[in-house]
Amino acid sequence: MGNYKHLNDHIYYSELYDKLTINDCEYWENQKDIHIENPKTKEEAERQSRIIFTNVAVELSLWLEKGERYLKKEEMIKQWMDRDRAKDEKLENAIEPKGIRCLQCSSPNMNCISRDLMTDSYDKEEVLFMFQCDKCNKRRAYWENGIEWQSKLYLCSKCQSEMDSAHIKKDNGVETTYSCQKCGHKETDSMDFSKKEEVVDPDFEMKRKKYCLSEEEGRKYSSEKINLEQMADLGKKWKEEEDNKELYDAIAKIKKLTVFELQNILSPICEKAGYVKLEFEKPEIQKDVTLGFSLQDSKSGRSEWDSVHDLQKLIRNTLKETNWRLMSDGVNYRLGFLTGKLRGVEGKEKLLNLVEKDFKKRDKLS
Ligand SMILES: [Zn+2]
Ligand SMILES: [Zn+2]
Repeated sequence: MGNYKHLNDHIYYSELYDKLTINDCEYWENQKDIHIENPKTKEEAERQSRIIFTNVAVELSLWLEKGERYLKKEEMIKQWMDRDRAKDEKLENAIEPKGIRCLQCSSPNMNCISRDLMTDSYDKEEVLFMFQCDKCNKRRAYWENGIEWQSKLYLCSKCQSEMDSAHIKKDNGVETTYSCQKCGHKETDSMDFSKKEEVVDPDFEMKRKKYCLSEEEGRKYSSEKINLEQMADLGKKWKEEEDNKELYDAIAKIKKLTVFELQNILSPICEKAGYVKLEFEKPEIQKDVTLGFSLQDSKSGRSEWDSVHDLQKLIRNTLKETNWRLMSDGVNYRLGFLTGKLRGVEGKEKLLNLVEKDFKKRDKLS
């Protein structure tokens, strides 16, 4: 036994892979168009520029194809070898069914003459054992699980009835004749088992040199690819910053104030507008900083509604270009005593959110 080797050496898979690479690259090569020498008319000139554009695109595709095929080569070869090794192991480890007798003469002396991986009726690859009778040479085939192999039903193309089959051995294979039990229609099919001499493409080595990268060329491709990706990333970043220029400008303009600085700015402005004794509570520090505040309205005769709205407007305007905002609950008023909460953010992401929210509010208003 052991005549069922699927696994080949590395050279075999390497050449197979290169043949596929050559096929892919030749496909691209065939997309190239021939330049027009000295275009004379406007149409010719237009066609010429299209051709030039196409050819540049094809060159780029070829460069990518060659490079990517090179980078994936060893992984693919490993997969192929693992697959074929597994097939060999499956065959090697399969257990030969016992107790097979000849269907013709009932002799128990059936010799197993081959084992092969075949697709069963569930489309699964399983091991099929072929037995041959010592006495009359009649054969029977069994799957590893002990179920006898059955030829697939062959239906007549004319009347869809079941057909009988007869096999004739030829020098290089088997010829099968099917005849319909009902209408007598006959069909033949032949299987060629002769080993075909592989036709060697005389240009194989030359094409290989052209399309299959060497280790050094592969390294060069890798670094060129990284450079290109970095350039693309940079371009994307530029584009993004350009698209969001207004946003980034607004963020750059934001004054990041500490609680102390906030009090120093807010206090005099409020006092000027008739709100005195600005006091902050102890800040609550969670994701952002929440700061409760209180003030007293010193302007007599100002109504509750005016007092609240004037203060809200004042705080919003004062803090517009800072990292602090009046929280959405707004300001509460009891007998001239005003309270509310401020929210302060830090960090680029948070500031971006803040500005985006402002922009949305502004867009809604406009
Ligand atoms: Zn027999
Ligand atoms: Zn028929």
